[in-house]
Amino acid sequence: TPIVEIKHLSKIFHTLEGETLAVKDFTLTINQGEFVVLVGPSGCGKSTILSTLAGLIKPSEGEIKFNPSKVNKKPSIGYMLQQDHLFPWRTILENVFLGLEIQGNLTPETKKRTEQLLDMYGLGDFKNHYPNQLSGGMRQRAALIRTLAIDPEILLLDEPFSALDYQTRLAVSDDIGSIIKKEKRTAVMVTHDISEAISIK
Ligand code: ADP
Ligand code: ADP
Repeated sequence: TPIVEIKHLSKIFHTLEGETLAVKDFTLTINQGEFVVLVGPSGCGKSTILSTLAGLIKPSEGEIKFNPSKVNKKPSIGYMLQQDHLFPWRTILENVFLGLEIQGNLTPETKKRTEQLLDMYGLGDFKNHYPNQLSGGMRQRAALIRTLAIDPEILLLDEPFSALDYQTRLAVSDDIGSIIKKEKRTAVMVTHDISEAISIK
């Protein structure tokens, strides 16, 4: 069943330098449980598509329909950006609780589930560490767990491995790919790296 229908999406940015056509007539249907990877060179409009899906940018033309079969009920969306954006003054545990805190949904149950995610992905022993005490790969996994903690119906990943060196990237993309597939979570990932797109699928 379709969870998102993007129809004829276009986005024009107006700036002092003039207009940029960032996305032109983009149409895509994403089904429940599907893992979609969008690949293309830098500047082709991938991030703009994700930000529009996340509701951070308004389309210039076209429309996005959520859950078209359920009268446009908007699903919860988790958005993981290129940089890990962990707060350096918060421990890993305080960081991964952040999304739940913002939602006002930090309960004993959601706390427990999030701590289980940390254990599951090898960060249990590091929950009281600060981000700068962890490796790049571990920080990236913490950022993913923070996004997963809110249990989003759709997961958006913008170049999630770009900040990592080659070896770490292989390990983490393997992890993240299998996490998403195991959970059958609906996800959209964008990358400029075709080999990454192929290896994660
Ligand atoms: P990608 O993610 O594929 O690298 P983007 O979606 O970031 O591409 O950008 C697509 C085009 O839109 C680029 O030419 C970029 O410079 C432009 N662009 C993106 N965001 C903005 C913005 N907020 N204001 C003006 N131009 C933008
Ligand atoms: P990855 O980034 O894929 O987790 P790394 O090569 O960065 O792999 O780290 C390998 C292992 O080394 C980690 O899983 C962790 O157990 C350990 N490690 C990495 N950084 C630290 C650290 N700052 N303190 C303690 N152990 C660490």
